[in-house]
Amino acid sequence: MASVYLDPEIETLPRAALGKLQGEKLARQVERVLRLSPFYRRKYAAAGIVSGLAIKHPEDIRKFPILAKAELREAQAAKPFFGDIATVPVGDFIETLSTTGTTGRPFHCVWTKNDLAYTHAVMRRTVWTMGIRPGDIVQNGFAYGLFVAGVNVHLACQQLGCLVVPIGATNTERHLDYLTGLKSTILFATPSFAMYLAERLKEAGIAPESLGLRIGCFGGEPGTAVPATRTKLEEGLGIDARDYYGLAEICPGMSPECEAKDGIHFCEDHLIAEVLDPETKEPVAEGETGVLVVTDLSREAMPLLRYWTNDLVRLSTERCACGRTHARAPGGIVGRGDDRINLKGAKFYPTQVENAVRALPDLAPEFRIVLDHDHARHSDTCTVRVELAPGKTAAGAALAALIAGVEAKLKAETGSSLAVEIVPTGSLERAMTKSKRVVDNRKPHGR
Ligand SMILES: [Zn+2]
Repeated sequence: MASVYLDPEIETLPRAALGKLQGEKLARQVERVLRLSPFYRRKYAAAGIVSGLAIKHPEDIRKFPILAKAELREAQAAKPFFGDIATVPVGDFIETLSTTGTTGRPFHCVWTKNDLAYTHAVMRRTVWTMGIRPGDIVQNGFAYGLFVAGVNVHLACQQLGCLVVPIGATNTERHLDYLTGLKSTILFATPSFAMYLAERLKEAGIAPESLGLRIGCFGGEPGTAVPATRTKLEEGLGIDARDYYGLAEICPGMSPECEAKDGIHFCEDHLIAEVLDPETKEPVAEGETGVLVVTDLSREAMPLLRYWTNDLVRLSTERCACGRTHARAPGGIVGRGDDRINLKGAKFYPTQVENAVRALPDLAPEFRIVLDHDHARHSDTCTVRVELAPGKTAAGAALAALIAGVEAKLKAETGSSLAVEIVPTGSLERAMTKSKRVVDNRKPHGR
């Protein structure tokens, strides 16, 4: 029987040895950026740091300032195209991709030959951890081109000996053709797109059991680790749903869920994962939610040190049931730092609304959270727009009871009283790539 691990020695390395390895790699990385990157020399000199500070342990990273995405963008705007961040000459770059840039201009990431070798090795480990094996038929629903996930999944699965079907993120009919005709065994997609495919299968009267799908690997946005969403994905597609996470800036596909489905594992031989308080920027206690801050230990071309991801996680270093020693984030990515909805002092995340809506069998899985300002009452309002499940109808007292039930469920999940509006089934647009389910009309230009 094939091993559960692709790299058994490193994946089960005792944490003391892992820490020692991280300390050594960190010392080398800091020395490199100070010697080779004008950007880092300038940034660290401004913080009074001109030498490597005798680094031995991963915790020594705390001696260095945080790195924000805006700083990287500014450096590239000041010195087009790549800025003065890199630690190797432009001639050594062999690939460039950009971050998706949902706000502002994208950040252009670059890779050397060595960078691609290690990121592909990490991705092979990631897909193996999610249960993919040679001989699988991998249907890739991630966009190709400048979006890093598509090509990364493609190459890693090919390298493991899988048959890869590169469909991308928009061609729904073709996805359905291959799912039913070729009987693909693995699906890669955002959870939003996978949910849409599940809805389309149901409409077409195709039973999930008639497909060949074993595992769905979902990334690019939170959702898979939301319990109600996971259940809907698993039932709707007849699969085992695995969450995974990656960052183009650091390492695409660096954090997969194992068979225990108890958090995404970080590849700590290649990075240091910290969790910091969003306001004080100090480390939080283990298990508390904060912003994930990542330090690149292996990247050669453009390593990022203490990079503020703005993604919220809680971290556990307890040994996982799968036997891997690398830290994991139970519950996956809770949300983005700027996703948190602040409504009259109460705070909640869109993923909590998602869990409420998708746990209710009378509702379709799609929803919108609409924030407004009531000028007469000087108060913010929040309405959750939902659809009835296909074929479901309700009117009069039955509809009122149904709405009251949804409101109660939302209150239980979020702690806030949110209004509910039922809109026609299928009227809320389904996202093909990353979803945008919060509509904030409180600000002049929205979000
Ligand atoms: Zn595990």
